[in-house]
Amino acid sequence: MDISFIDKRLESIFNKVLKGSRLSKEDGICIYETHDLIALGQIASHARRALHGNKAFYIYNQHLNYTNVCRNRCRFCAYARDDGEKGAYVWSIDQIEKRLLERIDDPVTELHIVGGLNEDLSFQYFIDLLETVKRIRPNATIKAFTCVEIDYLANLAGLSLEDTIQRLKDAGLEMMPGGGAEVLNSRIHEELFPKKIGHERWLEIVKAVHKAGIKTNATMLYGHIETIEERVDHLIALRKLQDETAGFSAFIPLAFHSKNTKLSHIPPTTAVDDLKNVAAARLMLDNFDHIKAYWVMIGERLAQVALSFGADDLDGTIMEERITHTAGAKSAIGLTKEQMEDMITKAGFEPVQRDSFYRPIK
Ligand code: SF4
Repeated sequence: MDISFIDKRLESIFNKVLKGSRLSKEDGICIYETHDLIALGQIASHARRALHGNKAFYIYNQHLNYTNVCRNRCRFCAYARDDGEKGAYVWSIDQIEKRLLERIDDPVTELHIVGGLNEDLSFQYFIDLLETVKRIRPNATIKAFTCVEIDYLANLAGLSLEDTIQRLKDAGLEMMPGGGAEVLNSRIHEELFPKKIGHERWLEIVKAVHKAGIKTNATMLYGHIETIEERVDHLIALRKLQDETAGFSAFIPLAFHSKNTKLSHIPPTTAVDDLKNVAAARLMLDNFDHIKAYWVMIGERLAQVALSFGADDLDGTIMEERITHTAGAKSAIGLTKEQMEDMITKAGFEPVQRDSFYRPIK
């Protein structure tokens, strides 16, 4: 493959990729700094095609956000409300059942369930939630809770981390979506989400979850106050943990949306930065199988382009996205299977509907 390099530093990165050598922190910084976007896309695309050829994955999924009441009130979060505040809500188990039954004819294979830390809910609520979802959708995978919720639930239940995970697993938890770390960095933690668990606890919980045989994704929220170096350190920390546990399934770069947050002065991320984050993930995370372009956050059009910058997965139909849209996302609330396939086909890739574990669905 011939690439015409404007930024010669990318040539040595490409040579490393061709040899299968691991990229360094300096390489990661170069990926973010370079203006040679086309060459960067070609390198990331080469790495992506070596793993997945022309395939691009998506899933038929449904999001359920059981409550937006959260005691943490992170500065970047537009979604959370205080108890009793206008717009605050919590779904009862009956309401969750009703929502599931409303879409029961849709061929959903994954339920993505996350919510705020609502002090009115008991540990039993979460067990009932999982068991209800499993009863109504026995063939779908339950992908639920961030490490922040797991930490909270362990305290709520008065159980060890391991016992909490086991109880949730017994009730139906099969996978975790991987959010809540934002950026694995103490400075950012202190400034943006001081009440939430810090990066050491996040890594400890992920390790315990992987040890219990539950796969997770990993994410990075970018485009707020983080530096390029902090982004690269985040990717390297995930890569290191993946070497230890091999428990991560996909990595998802999450573009920050500032509307209705305490950081509303921060402008949206640019298309160039969004694509660099996808490429950086594909090239730095050499031990991750999948990189997602999350269309909710970067929009359907750029998600299509991201398939040529290292992404191999566009996430899914979602049906009703609430969190990012509260922060001003302009993307659709949900997509149909036909729309997912059309996006992928028109980007020049072969759509593959998958289950939560990347097994193709015929
Ligand atoms: S980001 Fe999560 S933990 Fe933070 S306030 Fe929002 S819902 Fe709560």
